[in-house]
Amino acid sequence: MKNLLVTGGAGFIGVNFVHYWLANNPQDKVVVLDALTYAGNKASLEPVQENDNFTFVKGDICDTDLVEKLLSDHSIDTLVHFAAESHVDRSITGPDAFIETNIIGTYSLLKAAKKVWIDLPIASGKPVIEHRFHHVSTDEVYGTLSATDPAFTEDTAYAPNSPYSASKAASDHLVRAYHHTYGLQVTTSNCSNNYGPYHFPEKLIPLIIINILQDKPLPVYGDGQQIRDWLYVEDHARGIELVLSKGRVGENYNIGGNNEWANIDIIKLICNLMDVRFSKDPNLKKRFPQARNAIQGESRNLITHVKDRLGHDRRYAVNAEKISNELGYAPYETFESGIDKTVSWYLEKLNCDELQHDEALYTEVEEVTK
Ligand code: NAD
Repeated sequence: MKNLLVTGGAGFIGVNFVHYWLANNPQDKVVVLDALTYAGNKASLEPVQENDNFTFVKGDICDTDLVEKLLSDHSIDTLVHFAAESHVDRSITGPDAFIETNIIGTYSLLKAAKKVWIDLPIASGKPVIEHRFHHVSTDEVYGTLSATDPAFTEDTAYAPNSPYSASKAASDHLVRAYHHTYGLQVTTSNCSNNYGPYHFPEKLIPLIIINILQDKPLPVYGDGQQIRDWLYVEDHARGIELVLSKGRVGENYNIGGNNEWANIDIIKLICNLMDVRFSKDPNLKKRFPQARNAIQGESRNLITHVKDRLGHDRRYAVNAEKISNELGYAPYETFESGIDKTVSWYLEKLNCDELQHDEALYTEVEEVTK
């Protein structure tokens, strides 16, 4: 039985992880620590709110005293660290929050964990508490690839190119240093792009679905030929679970879907999926009457090329052989099944009124994305 502290558990991947964890490990206790920034949504945790093994705490990971208190009061033995500023575009226009949360915040967690799990027990003559600090990171720390380069392995040298990836790289190094210097029992996973339910609509896949429903332009950076590897978010949760149960302390594990797509091709795929849904389900036309191009089966008309992102990395690809060979990891979802589930989830959850109420949000998203 484990007692988990999940930082950033009200964000996209954190929420999916908490749902997955409580469903598959019902004996465990989960405490979520989340500052509820623009990207956090407590309502996404409603399905587990009544679970006796679930606790939500609103707070900042930079508040070391609060983190120490949570680790002690809840007898936490496993910390899974998702909390971050995660949007590359925002890191270009305003890097401060990325340095604060991703670097200082991770440092704050490491300090608190070392104190509660190692220093305090030793000072009182007790054995060190058996623990795990799992740090969730990204493949973006490895930099960019050409079309013919081999995929990133765990031995690829770090070469981050955006303030976001640089801040994540710095946090990865701090985690590594706390293991080598102080013996903190850490693991790190570097995952490719996630997609699935509860994704904040500034990110590519939900943005495209929501803009089609609103008949708004579908922004494509530059030529749209930037390539990313995509993984269904629950498969990421599964990978982290494996690393926690069988991963070697002090190791990094890449997690990926072996599923490379150019941005423009993903956008076209979603256009097709949406057009098919609208052609088959008359109810959708009633629920989203403003989705004129989708109703006509012509969502692709909305594709609009915009100025490329500054310093945009061309290609990410993940070699996930280590987690697959050592821990037996394989994603459950194919991209076809995962994207289908994702589109269904958004079509079920969203409604026309919500989209109108959130006009301010989507306007902001468009500005950031452009
Ligand atoms: P997200 O932006 O959707 O969620 C981040 C969460 O962290 C939010 O709930 C936010 O409120 C919370 N948070 C932010 N600052 C905080 C602070 N100072 N204290 C406490 N909580 C704070 O991010 P995500 O997409 O769910 O990503 C989660 C983690 O996974 C991040 O570390 C990210 O770098 C990593 N990652 C993401 C992807 C991806 O495709 N989204 C891929 C690989 C790795």
